[in-house]
Amino acid sequence: MSNNLVAVAYLVAIVLFILSLGGLSNQESAKRGNVYGIIGMVIALVATALSSQLTAYGLLVAAILPAVAIGGLVASRVEMTEMPELVAILHSFVGLAAVLVGLASYLGPDPTLVGAEETIHKLEIYIGIFIGALTFTGSVVAFGKLRTIISSKPLMLPARHLLNVAMLVGTVILGVGFMAAEGTDGFNYVLGMVAIASLLGIHLVAAIGGADMPVVISMLNSYSGWAAAAAGFMLSNDLLIVTGALVGSSGAILSYIMCEAMNRSFFSVILGGFGQGSGKGSSKAVEGTVTETDVNETIDLLADAQSVIITPGYGMAVAQAQHAVSDITRLLTQRGVNVRFGIHPVAGRLPGHMNVLLAEANVPYDIVLEMDEINEDFSETDVVLVIGANDTVNPSAMEDPESPIAGMPVLEVWKARNVVVMKRGMSAGYAGVANPLFFKENTQMLFGDAKANTNAILGRLQESATEQPKLVTA
Ligand code: NDP
Repeated sequence: MSNNLVAVAYLVAIVLFILSLGGLSNQESAKRGNVYGIIGMVIALVATALSSQLTAYGLLVAAILPAVAIGGLVASRVEMTEMPELVAILHSFVGLAAVLVGLASYLGPDPTLVGAEETIHKLEIYIGIFIGALTFTGSVVAFGKLRTIISSKPLMLPARHLLNVAMLVGTVILGVGFMAAEGTDGFNYVLGMVAIASLLGIHLVAAIGGADMPVVISMLNSYSGWAAAAAGFMLSNDLLIVTGALVGSSGAILSYIMCEAMNRSFFSVILGGFGQGSGKGSSKAVEGTVTETDVNETIDLLADAQSVIITPGYGMAVAQAQHAVSDITRLLTQRGVNVRFGIHPVAGRLPGHMNVLLAEANVPYDIVLEMDEINEDFSETDVVLVIGANDTVNPSAMEDPESPIAGMPVLEVWKARNVVVMKRGMSAGYAGVANPLFFKENTQMLFGDAKANTNAILGRLQESATEQPKLVTA
């Protein structure tokens, strides 16, 4: 394939990636966005494989075939609740690839690069390897935290900020030696830098805990983009540069949005130490009386309700209760009840988690509202069904300044006339914070698996629909 044709193919792929990102910004166009992305990636792969730069087809096939098989298998088997872990580990691969590409570029230098061009190339290699190593270890720690192999509590080393600064200074000093070294003599400097950057990646992510993990995921997404862009510079591949920059900047914007949603400053989160309270005391134990309810009483509440808001959380995803929830919504709506959903920006375990599940269960988009759109309506709502949500409906975020989630905006469900919380027991959510909502006078706990309970509610609603057809007004 001629270089011109490859350039045109790359341009088409870039446009498709931009269209893909545009499509993914909206639920209705998300599928189309995905298709654009897939076509763009196929074009990019074929054009790269057919470009004149590539001759080692045996190696290419040996690398790509197992990768396609493993990737396809893993993606087809992964549960929706495991998606964040998969994303985290995939980010780590991008980081590792940037490190390996950087080391290979350094050890096999391009003899045509001399003078300023050589200096710039070495700088690209150094920075690329640094971002790659940081992304690699940071993503592995994030994977461990999300899979609960590693505690989600933040690691609070003494003088941790000083430690970070010392590590940064160390990489700069090694970088000076690296830049001054002739030929490949700077290899030991770069290995030293990889060790420091790897430790920095571990430390930065280990220091972030609890409810701030969504920012870590989007931040690592951004880092992986910049690592790919750096690899693009090292390989002089325009497509990789642009694609990396797209991922890097969209990840940075997502991190910013997540921080806004959680009322955190971006820098405070990436410098670590959030998610453990103000340091004086973390999650207070909550005391009081819990009112238990059952499916029949919940049905009675729903029968009298004019307005219902459903606030789903991670537990709905675990239980896979979205289809029953969707059917309940349909039946209640047919009875003339105003049913809407309130979605917290960090509900579940990945951005947009609840929206994806509800879309999969065919819940109409127009009744799925963001937290900001619905928070004022709780005080005029008859019944709120909290399905497997915990941190995102925790009033201590507003009422207890010592709480690890203090300041995070939450769905103010307790303002409704009646709140039914569906969960299996009294355990805390991801942030490990006790929840006073469960002890409020207007709260009733419907214990058990969310799928079993929503199915039971659905069954009773269907029975009553056939028993009392006059209620079904469509
Ligand atoms: P939480 O993690 O706070 O709580 C989920 C609740 O679901 C648990 O308390 C659990 O209680 C209950 N549950 C689990 N399984 C079931 C089941 N089968 N049936 C019924 N209930 C069940 O969820 P939220 O969605 O409210 O909050 C998300 C949390 O995750 C936030 O802290 C957020 O910061 C964090 N996070 C979010 C990410 C994102 O990108 N969205 C990424 C990483 C972390 P019990 O065991 O008693 O049943």
